[in-house]
Order: sequence, then structure tokens, then C-alpha cells
Amino acid sequence: MDFELTETQQLIRATARDFADKRLAPAAHDLDEHERFPLEYIQELASLGLMAVNLPADLGGSEAGVVAYSLAMQEIASACASTAVTMSVTNMVGEVIAQFGNDAQRRRYCTGLANGELVAGSFALSETDAGSDPGGMTTTAVREGDSWVINGSKQWITSGAYAGVMVVWARTAPRDTHPGTRGISCFLVEGKTPGLRIGRAEDKHGLRASNTVSLSFENCRIPSSHLLGLENGGFRIAMMALDGGRIGIASQAIGIARAALRESVRYAKDRHAFGKPIADFQAIQWKLADMQTELDAAYLLTMRAAWLKEHNMAFSREASMAKLFASEAANRICNEAVQIHGGYGYIREFAAERHLRDVRVTTIYEGTSEVQRMVIARSLLAP
Ligand SMILES: Cc1cc2nc3c(=O)[nH]c(=O)nc-3n(C[C@H](O)[C@H](O)[C@H](O)COP(=O)(O)OP(=O)(O)OC[C@H]3O[C@@H](n4cnc5c(N)ncnc54)[C@H](O)[C@@H]3O)c2cc1C
Repeated sequence: MDFELTETQQLIRATARDFADKRLAPAAHDLDEHERFPLEYIQELASLGLMAVNLPADLGGSEAGVVAYSLAMQEIASACASTAVTMSVTNMVGEVIAQFGNDAQRRRYCTGLANGELVAGSFALSETDAGSDPGGMTTTAVREGDSWVINGSKQWITSGAYAGVMVVWARTAPRDTHPGTRGISCFLVEGKTPGLRIGRAEDKHGLRASNTVSLSFENCRIPSSHLLGLENGGFRIAMMALDGGRIGIASQAIGIARAALRESVRYAKDRHAFGKPIADFQAIQWKLADMQTELDAAYLLTMRAAWLKEHNMAFSREASMAKLFASEAANRICNEAVQIHGGYGYIREFAAERHLRDVRVTTIYEGTSEVQRMVIARSLLAP
């Protein structure tokens, strides 16, 4: 077994770490406090090749692979989790289009996401009444001549107000002829398409600098060439994209938890109680030891899932296990970080408070922990 990173992986990690330390970390508190979308940082990420880490070079990507992508995501998330989720969804959208798009779609949209021209990508699957169960979606697309006409709405769409391109799922065949998830198709919708209305930004618990909006489609007409993949074959695209996306969210959780642990170690050495640093108390040492151990376990599960995907091997169960464990462990780690900081962990001046708010959603989006357990159990119980 080889735990050494390749030169490319080391280079991508070093690039992301340098940017995270020098540019993002100093800005993260203000971005969060003022709920400001990190537009300039997103553009810098594109110029560093980090908005399309796993896309081929002929589409403008860094062609560095899934392990490198995970490493980069960990670094960015340890500085600013809001920027990280924007980067994560954009990388995922680029990969979906690269995998399922035709040449024209790939050239236009993958390249535009990679070089920053399209700013960000959005992944529009969830609806008000269809989150864990996206097959329950009610948004429709109807073919009219050379167009598709979309009606309905989407909820919780990351970067929706800024995205140059969105992948949008809609029902294209009735349930009686196409039951369950069979009558769903996937479309490419450009950000400023007439008939697409962007809702107000959600007032969130964490990731406050990321943009999360509802979308409504009111006779939104797109060219028939904007169908991605096969008509009525869209659900498979969503599930495959989410498998890969879960590696990104596991990596985001690791990054946030790593920052929380780093700050906890520093604080434990500095803070004195009963005449000595709190790091001298075994109760604090054991917390730190458990945090590091859980963090490493999360890292190894995530690296395995990334490596399997990179080598075109089955990785769906492993990605769910990585996402489940990393997000739950990261929540425990960030919670303990606040405990180690005592009262100071509860105020905004200290980053531990932000990490706990930011990490909370990692057990919810791109499939809740309950959904990950369903995926894992299903694969164990399959005949
Ligand atoms: C900040 C943020 C950003 C997001 N970004 C995006 C995005 O960019 N694109 C997008 O499409 N979506 C996005 N989402 C939506 C997210 O993926 C959903 O919130 C998530 O999938 C859960 O769906 P829900 O909120 O409808 O919860 P529900 O599905 O209503 O679930 C509620 C609870 O019931 C549990 N539950 C549901 N079904 C089962 C079951 N069968 N067995 C056991 N338990 C079950 C769930 O685990 C959960 O605990 C985002 C959400 C947030 C909060």
C-alpha cells in the first residue's frame, strides 16, 4: 500500500494551502460576518485551476484527479467553508457535464467553469417537498418544437444567484407511464435565461458567505440542445454526480475539523487555569487525542473513496461511508473545539464558533447521514 502523494497531488495541495493561508483565512471572518459571497476568491480559485481540478486539460481543467481534488478541498475548507462549498458544487457540475455532455456542451460549459468566465455552477435537484427523495420532484419540462419549457421550482440551490450554468432536473414523462424516477431528465440552464427567477438568499445558520437560493421556472424556455444525456435518463446522472459530490463534502468536513483542531491545540497551550496551561490537563489531552484520531480515520476513508473513483472502480458505498463518517466526526470535533475554548468558543471573535456553525450542514446536504446509511446498508443487503 502506497500512502505517498504524487508530485501533482503535492503541487495541488501546496497551491491550495498557500492560497488558503495567505488569501482566504484572513478574509473568512468578515465574509461570514457580512454574508458576502466570496466572488473575488472564487475567481482566483479558477485562475489557480481549482474550480476544475479533475477536468481534462483540453476542457481547461487541471487534470489532477480526484485525490488531488479532495486535498485541495480540505485546504480551502480549513480556511473558509463557504468558499469551499461554492468550489465543491462547481467542480461537481463541471464533472457532470464532462461525463454526460456532448462535445458542444463540454466545450462551452466545462471550459467556462474552469476558467471562471461562468463564475460558478449550480446543481438544482432539491425541491421544497423533495430533498432526500428527489424522485418526488414536481418541476416539469415539456418539449415544444426545438425547445424545452420548464415550469416549477427548486429549493436550497448553492450559488444559484451567481451561477453561469445550472444543471436542472425536471420530470419529462408522467408517473403512470414512467413510475418512480424513470421520467426525469437533466438540463443545462444558463443563469440569465428568461423565465428563470432567483429567490432571495436563505438566512442560514452557517456557511453564511455561500449563496443559497430558491429558483422558480415560469415558462422558462431553453433550446432542445440543452438536454444533458438521455431524455428520461436524468435520475441516473443525479445519483452518479452525488456519489462523486460526497467525496467533496467529506473533504470539506475534514478541512473544517482540521482547522478546529489546530485552533484547539493552540488555545489549549495558551490558556491557563489553576496555574497551568489547560493542555496539561488529561481531560483536554484526551479530547485532542480523540479529535486527531477521528480526523485521521475520516481522511483515510475519504482518500480511499477518492482513489477508487480516480481509478474508475466502484466507489459509491465507499463515498457514502466517507461522507457519513467524516461529516459526523467533524461535527463532534468542532463541538469539542468549542468546549476546549470554554466561553470564548461561544463568541464570534474566535473561529471555533464559526467552524461549529459551518460544519453542521455537512451531515445534511448531498444526502443526509440517514440517506448515507441507506446507501451503505442497501449495498450490503443486495442479493
Ligand atoms: C446550505 C444548503 C445547501 C444546499 N445546496 C443544495 C444544492 O446546491 N442543490 C440541491 O439540489 N440541494 C441542495 N441542498 C438541499 C439538501 O441536499 C437537502 O436539504 C437534503 O438532501 C435533505 O432534504 P430535506 O431538507 O428535504 O430533508 P428531508 O428529506 O425532508 O428529511 C428530513 C429528515 O428525515 C430524514 N429522512 C428522510 N427520508 C428518510 C428515510 N427514508 N429514512 C430515514 N430517514 C429519512 C432525513 O435524513 C432528515 O433527517 C442544500 C441544503 C442546504 C441546507
